[in-house]
Amino acid sequence: MPPIGTDRFIFLANHPGLDFINTRMIKKQGPVELLETPRDLLQWMFAGYLITAGDYAIAEQHWLDRQAMAEALADALRLRDAVKKAVEEMILRQEQEGPVGKSADQSKDDMNGDEVVQAVRIINEYMAVPAVLSRLSCETGDWRLQDYAAGPEGLVPLIARQASRVFTDLDRRLIKKCRNEKCSLCFYDISKNQARAWCSMDLCGNRAKAAKHYQREMPS
Ligand SMILES: [Zn+2]
Repeated sequence: MPPIGTDRFIFLANHPGLDFINTRMIKKQGPVELLETPRDLLQWMFAGYLITAGDYAIAEQHWLDRQAMAEALADALRLRDAVKKAVEEMILRQEQEGPVGKSADQSKDDMNGDEVVQAVRIINEYMAVPAVLSRLSCETGDWRLQDYAAGPEGLVPLIARQASRVFTDLDRRLIKKCRNEKCSLCFYDISKNQARAWCSMDLCGNRAKAAKHYQREMPS
């Protein structure tokens, strides 16, 4: 049985590494932590396709009460904080450098600030943990090669592999933060005109439009 309640998680970043850092977000009422318990971590990983329903069931039944799961949660938060700081640093530098395309001739070495260096160190630390195995499967005709955790110690290494792809797979000029200053959500802009400004229209875009409309309607 798939876990219930996973719809509280948000997947709007177009990349699992960025969705991961969005598990702590700023809402109107203040910061919201979506990974409060080891079960939250498992549920998020299931909802984000990092573990299968079968793996989730095994973990829930056999791992949840183990101390290693509490450690996995602490490690996940440590990894998340490091990657979040690195992404924020990259976004800030991008904003300082100006619009897309301008930084092409900049030396690649100075693109990596302290937070990026630190995040890479921590990602590599977790990816060096030998608790991840791979499985080839063919369900309903689709071949799939998927890494999976051999035990609770393998969960954060699975996330670290996805986080590493933020650096290898993405054009960092298109990693953005929501334009709403009070919103902390990040995303990868895959829109055709590369002009995505909001985490989502529902969460921030419509609110901003409404506020603008309201300002216009108000007599000054
Ligand atoms: Zn937003």
